Amino acid sequence: MAYSDKVRQVFQNTIEKLENDGLFKQERFIHSSQAADIEVEFPVGSSLKKVINMCANNYLGLSSHPDVVKAAHDGLEDRGYGMSSVRFICGTQDIHKELEKKVTEFLGTEDTILFPSCMDANAGVFEAILGSEDVMISDRLVHASIIDGMRLCSAIHDTFKHSDMTHLEKKLQLHADKRFKMVITDGVFSMDGDTAKLGEMVELCEKYDAMLFVDDSHSSGFIGKTGRGTHEHCNVIGKIDIITTTFGKALGGASGGCVSGRKELVELCRQKARPYLFSNTIAPVVVSGVLRVLDILSESTERRDKLEKNTEFWRKGLEEAGFVLKEGDTPIVPVMLFNAKLSQDFSKDLYDEGIYAMGFFFPVVPQGQARIRTQISAGHEMHHLEKALDAFIKVGKKYDILGKSKKEIVDMYGM
Ligand SMILES: *Cc1c(COP(=O)(O)O)cnc(C)c1O
Repeated sequence: MAYSDKVRQVFQNTIEKLENDGLFKQERFIHSSQAADIEVEFPVGSSLKKVINMCANNYLGLSSHPDVVKAAHDGLEDRGYGMSSVRFICGTQDIHKELEKKVTEFLGTEDTILFPSCMDANAGVFEAILGSEDVMISDRLVHASIIDGMRLCSAIHDTFKHSDMTHLEKKLQLHADKRFKMVITDGVFSMDGDTAKLGEMVELCEKYDAMLFVDDSHSSGFIGKTGRGTHEHCNVIGKIDIITTTFGKALGGASGGCVSGRKELVELCRQKARPYLFSNTIAPVVVSGVLRVLDILSESTERRDKLEKNTEFWRKGLEEAGFVLKEGDTPIVPVMLFNAKLSQDFSKDLYDEGIYAMGFFFPVVPQGQARIRTQISAGHEMHHLEKALDAFIKVGKKYDILGKSKKEIVDMYGM
């Protein structure tokens, strides 16, 4: 170990400051597979507790689905554990091409390229397509991985106010002289659970000859009548130039991501996107699992329909109990508490009641916007949701926030 105690002290101070500011992230250890019921060790060293998971991205309940696990086993047997190569050297199997084809069909696009993750897809896609004569105009609440991807690209970067179409149009006019204009948004925004106005965005993009980029990580598999994503929900299938998404959420929950869209843009990614060229191919076991997931979703809409019903029950129950929620109709249901400490205390009390739901506060969400973000799954049965609702109401009563407005809660607890 080469560095001096003086250097070490600086790093230790940084970590200590995170702790003192209440920003230190503590992991909870899960001793079971990912499902509605999980076994958790928290705090570290305490005995295991069985709790209901209300904060996974396991929207369709497929993370431990027996058919997906079996398909992964079969893939492991047939195609081995790893490829020890990036895609373009010797890391492309027939099943990688099969998955690209299936994703293309599922999303209704022209072509698809796989990436090790959606973070990698977003890291590579902008730089592969745009240059210094171009502009990227992004919603102010896009995911961190998009922000990082834009940083790696030499195109000019500008933003528009969250979901504000008048502001977006102004920015499109402002940048009319650029070679390419790309409008960039999440399909469903992960912290608030609201949906991008893709219908209006497509119209604006057509009017100003701009391309539209949508990250559908929190939508693919369950938003829209057949679960294709926000483009299906907004009736603009075939009109999004670039969709990026993850296989690490609803689509099995393991890992992997992709860029899907216009074939020449996908080809440019194949030629130039650095995470595609320089990071290892998705493991065959994961590819096999995702292939099965897409089959399950193409056979029936049962799981996304159940998720929709569960979500309705959950939103309605919380609303009737008198909680302040963020508006929306997605399975991301934020229960607003505004105060950071209250969000942590609330989460702890829920845990004691057997409900696992995380409190989020600044800087993950804006200052004064602390919340418990609940996420509903098709893996939840009615008894899970009823028990969780009872627990929320019990803890809500304890803190006397039921039926209270934002102002009243803030008056009691501060921002
Ligand atoms: C989760 C998420 C990602 C990252 O996906 P990974 O495949 O886990 O890297 C990217 N974009 C959005 C909008 C996400 O929610």
